[in-house]
Amino acid sequence: MQQNLLDFDAQALAGYFTEMGEKPFRARQLMRWMYKAGESDFAAMTDIAAATRDRLAQCANITAPNVMREELSDDGTRKWLLNVGTGNAVEAVYIPEETRGTLCVSTQAGCALNCSFCSTGKQGFNRNLSVAEIIGQLWWANHQLGKDADGNWKISNVVMMGMGEPLLNFDNTVSALRLMLDDNAYGLSRRRVTVSTSGIVPAMDRLREECPVALAVSLHAPNDKLRDELVPINQKYPLKELLAACRRYLERAPRDFITFEYVMLEGVNDSVQQARELVKLVRDVPCKFNLIPFNPFPQTHYRRSRPDDIQHFRDVLMQADIVTTTRRTRGDDIAAACGQLAGQVQDKTKRTLRRSVGVV
Ligand code: SAH
Ligand code: SF4
Repeated sequence: MQQNLLDFDAQALAGYFTEMGEKPFRARQLMRWMYKAGESDFAAMTDIAAATRDRLAQCANITAPNVMREELSDDGTRKWLLNVGTGNAVEAVYIPEETRGTLCVSTQAGCALNCSFCSTGKQGFNRNLSVAEIIGQLWWANHQLGKDADGNWKISNVVMMGMGEPLLNFDNTVSALRLMLDDNAYGLSRRRVTVSTSGIVPAMDRLREECPVALAVSLHAPNDKLRDELVPINQKYPLKELLAACRRYLERAPRDFITFEYVMLEGVNDSVQQARELVKLVRDVPCKFNLIPFNPFPQTHYRRSRPDDIQHFRDVLMQADIVTTTRRTRGDDIAAACGQLAGQVQDKTKRTLRRSVGVV
């Protein structure tokens, strides 16, 4: 079977080249072709010896995940639905802004953590994505979007906020992160690459040691009672432990703050009282808040908080000197928010299945 070279980080690629009897610097040369030039055809890599190119063409390939569908929103948001086999789809979303272009990537097909307000969680866990499938989302999106006038890829920032819990697919996530940071690959600064986690405490400590990129933590509640309900992994890693892990992370983090994400659910976690409780909770953690208006999906009983309530909630945090932004909803018309489109595809598969076994 051919080896997909997108599955290797720099070290693994160098090892592969050594096994082939090639010098390690050839691996770096190849990486620059793959990631800086976005090239997938060995024949085009003209500064690599023809014999080496021929051997690579026989035993290896550079293959991004298969794209089933692309959708373009009126606001410029672009979404790709990637086929990762056996009826599974994951999504990558590109969000253009004035000063940057952000790609939101997925790390798992589905998710085992079953947060009560998340459509991905409702699908259950299917499997971890490979390194090639994770970095391949960036490779593919760059390939589609191209470079700006200065010759840089339009994607300047990456957030691991698509489907799945990145820290439960730790090794593949870290290999993909290393490629994002590697000067021979995408060369993004650690501040421009963000991992979002629901709070897998031991893995946060490992990430701090192995690849301390910017960290976003999905908080969503000001106390354990409510968080146990919304983010069930809280029962295993409660708030006290989570906040201690955040403080440890900051010893090594490229940014001197944690970004706390907080989904705004009407009548559930959006009162002024809860905002005050939150201020006390995070007192010892340098942080910013990102309030995310809930994105509804079929089969949910939650509703998005009212704009006034979001504003009041934000005021309480701001008065306590916590920088707080409210995430603008982007790509509404193409359901580009967390898990929505992939959810539809999954549902359709299930319906077809049910029909074929005569249940419906
Ligand atoms: N598993 C990771 C990263 C993926 S989810 C995590 O939970 O952090 C990225 C963000 O989207 C998380 O903060 C998550 O809580 C939030 N999210 C999930 N479902 C949502 C929904 N329906 N509306 C708004 N935000 C949602
Ligand atoms: Fe998984 Fe994150 Fe969704 Fe929770 S919010 S179910 S951790 S993807």
